[in-house]
Amino acid sequence: MTADVISALAAELGNEILFGDDIPARNKRDWNSPDPVCPIAVARPAMPEGVAAVQRICATHGVAVVPQGGLTGLCGGAQPVAGCVALSLERLVGIEEIDPVSSTMTVRAGTTLEAVQKAAAEAGLFCALDLGARGSCSVGGNLSTNAGGNRVIRYGMAREMVLGIEVALPDGTLMTSLNKMLKNNAGYDLKQLFIGSEGTLGVITRIVLRLFPQPAATMTAVCGLADYDAVLRMLAGARQTLGPLLSAFEVMWPDYFDTATRRLPSIRRPLAGDHGIYVLLEAQGNDPVSDPRHFEAWLGGLLEAGVVEDAAIAQSVADATSFWDVRDAGAEFKALIGAFGSFDIGLPVDRMNDFVRICQSTLSAELPGCASFFFGHIADGNMHIMVGMPGVATPPLKAIDEVVYRLVRQHGGTISSEHGIGVKKKAYLPYSRTPEEIALMKTLKAALDPKGILNPGKVV
Ligand code: FAD
Repeated sequence: MTADVISALAAELGNEILFGDDIPARNKRDWNSPDPVCPIAVARPAMPEGVAAVQRICATHGVAVVPQGGLTGLCGGAQPVAGCVALSLERLVGIEEIDPVSSTMTVRAGTTLEAVQKAAAEAGLFCALDLGARGSCSVGGNLSTNAGGNRVIRYGMAREMVLGIEVALPDGTLMTSLNKMLKNNAGYDLKQLFIGSEGTLGVITRIVLRLFPQPAATMTAVCGLADYDAVLRMLAGARQTLGPLLSAFEVMWPDYFDTATRRLPSIRRPLAGDHGIYVLLEAQGNDPVSDPRHFEAWLGGLLEAGVVEDAAIAQSVADATSFWDVRDAGAEFKALIGAFGSFDIGLPVDRMNDFVRICQSTLSAELPGCASFFFGHIADGNMHIMVGMPGVATPPLKAIDEVVYRLVRQHGGTISSEHGIGVKKKAYLPYSRTPEEIALMKTLKAALDPKGILNPGKVV
């Protein structure tokens, strides 16, 4: 069977298919999957029709297909399964059109998010989606995971930034629905089925993205506050006073902030003193004169009222970048603490701080030696946690998962706010979804992929 499918793929795709020793190491695993798995072949079609052909041929031969974008996913969704063909989107790249009238971009799914952001900026428009992996992740992967990132508070998640989509279905049908209209209620909104389904229902080949006006002023500040109550007061004030200008509200607990800014040589500490908790705040406006004044006046008022203890406002793009570097430093913690468990849990905003305390104390009690670090997109109800065991080469990652997800369940939260389920969180899906929800997910999967060959074993 392996030889048959490879020769059928080679006949259809020519040199777009790699097998044997030509399979690159990068296609054997995604960002932090521990054990590489070699697919029987890597297909790298450069056109949507090639993606559909791979699906059709694999369906005919009953061979599993695993879609791969930029391979920055954090829960094993793009990790090959034994005997599969890895369907890499790395050559399906390029921007097909920027339409300034409808304010849209039509783009191929393998294009990196950074290339999309740059092209939008060059056209005088703004791609609001942004995340730390922007240079490597693909826009198709962003949709497949319904990525969140830094500006959800203002623009929503990836799902909210899409108007149209083209998908290769598991049987090889190419479904083109490249809608550009903001309103289109003609029947089911099929694109939403594929956004956030982690490549289990279809392979996204092209996308119509919504673009926004390019902000004329971006204000960024790092603030030190006494406690989480002050953070909640600041958030309420930011929503009230900055209104739609508020574009990011990130919170870092001291274990994270101090480790990032005192132990990582590449990260500059923006505030001199120590505080109970830290906020990175961004606002974007269209008036380069009055918006920064409005922002500074509001922040000055918070300092005078004692809600904020200290604040640094970026005076340049370099300052703003260095503030964001603190927030994005998580990936570098491996050099300090070794292997760690990484979480993107969600909780109601007012329960976040209680959760931090309970999670820290439970981890210490049940798994002595654990070091935990808390930060995240708190205004979206999304907290990131990194938990390692410094000095221990193979920390008990499964036991760490058990503790964190058990507490999330007890607090009525979600086991995934933005990264998805993949294989890593599959066992915990019932912690956040009812049996009826999971049954419906399985019904949808069976309807679109009756042979169960597209990204098998992932999500449900
Ligand atoms: P991959 O890792 O290649 O794949 C992810 C999933 O999508 C897999 O299930 C795969 O099978 C499927 N897939 C990929 N392409 C397609 C396609 N065209 N059609 C159908 N299925 C497909 N995520 C956030 O949400 N917010 C963040 O702030 C964030 N920050 C990050 C920072 C760093 C440093 C890193 C390493 C990761 C971060 N992530 C974040 C996670 C990751 O970048 C996102 O999940 C991203 O959307 C994955 O895109 P990708 O192209 O790398 O997808």
